[in-house]
Amino acid sequence: MKKTVPPTRLMRYCCEKLKENNGKECMVATGVRWGESYKRKTTRGIYEDVNRNKEKKIVLLNDNDDKRRLFERCEIKANTIINPIIDFTDDEIWDYYDNECKYRNPLYDIGFNRVGCIGCAMAGRKGRLREFELFPKYKELYLRAFDRMLKHREARGLDNRNWHTAEDVFEWWVSK
Ligand code: SF4
Repeated sequence: MKKTVPPTRLMRYCCEKLKENNGKECMVATGVRWGESYKRKTTRGIYEDVNRNKEKKIVLLNDNDDKRRLFERCEIKANTIINPIIDFTDDEIWDYYDNECKYRNPLYDIGFNRVGCIGCAMAGRKGRLREFELFPKYKELYLRAFDRMLKHREARGLDNRNWHTAEDVFEWWVSK
């Protein structure tokens, strides 16, 4: 309610709350891969030392990087991220999944090739609508939240744009 708008591609405060601010002072392992996007290919590394000061941030792009020593000896006590499957291709991922994983996620068996939050603002409209069709309870919960959000906006004297109902907000949100 504090934000008075649902999370969008440009305002991903959900990710910030749920993922990015966790694990302070810890070493975090992720499933980020270069094959997922051009941005990841150019900015993410096998090892990352996160620092507020961009100049001090360290990203190792491959195993032979000179800075690898830092990772092996774990000299840095700040936030660190390792991306152990950074260079796996899609085929390698599926091959590993098919041959090594004992437990299967049923969503992969009904055509999903990525599994994340239902209705994620980073996904396209078509995919999001399909998710809400498969999991209607989540749509209901979003509508309820949007209804509360509209009341909250009104109470704060904020302009409710063209939103008259929770459905209007939902339509705007999935089209963003
Ligand atoms: S909905 Fe998308 S952007 Fe938000 S936390 Fe989930 S993955 Fe991140």
